[in-house]
Amino acid sequence: MTELKLGLVGFGKIARDQHLPALERNPSMELCAIASPSSTQDALPQFQSMEAMLDAMPELQAVALCVPPAVRYQLASEALARGLHVLLEKPPGATLHEVELLSRQAEAAGVTLFATWHSRFAPAVGPAREWLAGRTVRHVDVHWKEDVRVWHPGQDWIWEPGGMGVFDPGINGLSIVTAVLDHPFVLRDARLHVPENCQTPIAADLVFQAGGDTEMHAAFDFRQTGPQLWDIHVHTDDGKLTLSAGGSQMWVDGELIFEAPEREYEGIYERFAALVADNRSDVDVTPLRLVSDAFLLGRREHVEAFIE
Ligand code: NAP
Repeated sequence: MTELKLGLVGFGKIARDQHLPALERNPSMELCAIASPSSTQDALPQFQSMEAMLDAMPELQAVALCVPPAVRYQLASEALARGLHVLLEKPPGATLHEVELLSRQAEAAGVTLFATWHSRFAPAVGPAREWLAGRTVRHVDVHWKEDVRVWHPGQDWIWEPGGMGVFDPGINGLSIVTAVLDHPFVLRDARLHVPENCQTPIAADLVFQAGGDTEMHAAFDFRQTGPQLWDIHVHTDDGKLTLSAGGSQMWVDGELIFEAPEREYEGIYERFAALVADNRSDVDVTPLRLVSDAFLLGRREHVEAFIE
């Protein structure tokens, strides 16, 4: 099998925790270099910018962009312009328009653009979709509540415009809901709780409608201490399905039906290799659209300043 020569751009938390180990285990990917302004490592050639990396290593065929969303568009556009396949961490951009432009650019260049949603690769997502098919959904509750100090230490960008605040994790919950249900969720109400010293919300409460009487409530909170909650409850006419632990467990009416070890990023790189081999892209902006609507429609309420 020919390996795809890949450069990793942005060597922060997710690149170290997930991309590196997943790439090591993937026989169709060869991680050749890393570009990141100030992070360092000794194992691979290191560059302070993607541009320097691509200039020095014309043999690279793909990049994985693990940078904050606000800087992703310029980097992705530059890589596509040089004819590279591009993998985007979630969310695929800071705005919908950016992602649309990238999608068109990739198509025109004949290269692969993969807008990843890692939570969609959680093991119970497929079984949940199968279980829900054919059942009538009455109500959906999403609880995505985590401690920002534990999961996003020192990430000042998350509080800046484009950083999305609590929607950075919350969008993962929405990416699962929109993968297991085909309902056309429309945002009806959004309350964004914004710390007085930040630009983005620390918590959000959202209400969506999906035709008829079906509603979805989503509660996102970055102030969760104690047990962390990444749960989705789907109430149907024939039982209640719960996806918990970020999509790694599936419960039906309180009974654990399915559980498997998490291997989201292995799945992501397997899919990226398959897309490149088939000369196809995969860009679904549905979760980002719902979040954009929350920023468009949301009522801002100032809350206590956030001091890390
Ligand atoms: P992070 O720890 O702050 O890392 C971001 C990295 O991007 C930093 O290492 C920074 O480099 C680098 N960077 C910034 N601007 C750059 C540029 N112009 N060129 C090259 N590198 C640049 O953030 P993260 O948690 O890894 O998150 C990154 C993305 O992954 C976000 O979109 C996030 O939603 C997503 N994600 C995060 C998690 C998670 O649990 N943290 C999970 C899944 C997905 P230097 O450090 O070298 O300055």
